[in-house]
Formats: sequence, structure tokens, C-alpha cells
Amino acid sequence: MRNDRTLSILKPDCVRRGLTGEVLRKIEITGFKVCALQMIKLTRAHAEGFYEVHRDRPFFSDLIDFMTSGPCVPMVLEKKDAVESFRKLIGTTDPAEAAKGTIRRLYAENKGENIVHGSDSPENAQKEIAYFFGESGIPADAA
Ligand code: UDP
Ligand code: MG
Repeated sequence: MRNDRTLSILKPDCVRRGLTGEVLRKIEITGFKVCALQMIKLTRAHAEGFYEVHRDRPFFSDLIDFMTSGPCVPMVLEKKDAVESFRKLIGTTDPAEAAKGTIRRLYAENKGENIVHGSDSPENAQKEIAYFFGESGIPADAA
């Protein structure tokens, strides 16, 4: 299992608030290479499939409303120990509890609208990358 790639999504609040470039810059200056990137408006089915593990949680329907509320930017990022390193860069789910300097602490408004997704394990990163990009969706020179 490779551990040098993770799946991130700049969520609809990030795009809507005009923070796409700023957040991407933070990601790149931290040493992540962008291997693949797209802008899409998720359908409910696509968002529900992505967050299937949270289906029975009380926040699920608000989460799907939010994730389908506008375009988002899924991307594949590459760096040594990508999953752990990226989770450290974005901070905890609730921005109020996130460490100073993390992306969620800097930009997120609340626990739901928290700017960015990052995979939580190398196994899930592999699944999530395939969910958005397949293997062929990643440019050969970035592989
Ligand atoms: N979420 C929410 N309320 C909660 C927990 C999570 O709205 O109490 C949303 C939030 O957008 C979060 C996403 O559901 O990023 C997925 O939750 P998870 O626990 O996997 O957090 P993450 O891995 O994104 O930090
Ligand atoms: Mg998660």
C-alpha cells in the first residue's frame, strides 16, 4: 500500500468564498504536488457515495446539502506520508479546536463548512482517489 498520495476536496464553501487559490497555495508551499485536479458540482448520489460511512450520523443530510451546494475541487496530492501530513496541515474537523496555522483554523467557519477534505488512511485514500479519478484520470507524467 503506497502512502505518498491522498485525496483532498476543496469544499463548496472554499470555492464560494474565493479561497481556492489561497488554500491551494498553502497546500503547495507545504510540499504537496498536485497530481490531478478537477472542478465539479457533485450530484446527491455522488456525495452520498463518498460519505457513505457517515450515512447514519445525524449530520448526514446537512452534509450532503452542503457538499452539493456548489462546485468543489477534488484533487490528488502527493508527498511522503501524504495522508498523515495532509491531516496535520488541515487540522481537526471542528475549526474551533484546530491547531493554530492549520487550514481549517485559518479559514473554516464551523464544523460542517470546514473548507477542505483529507483522506483519513492510506486505504481510504486509495479508494477515494479511485472514486473521483480512477487510475487513468491521473496524468502519466504525474504518476
Ligand atoms: N461533519 C459535520 N458535523 C459533525 C462531524 C462532521 O457536519 O459533527 C461534516 C464535516 O464537513 C466533516 C465531514 O462531515 O468534514 C466528515 O466528517 P469526519 O468525521 O469524517 O471529519 P473529517 O475527516 O472531514 O475531519
Ligand atoms: Mg473523515
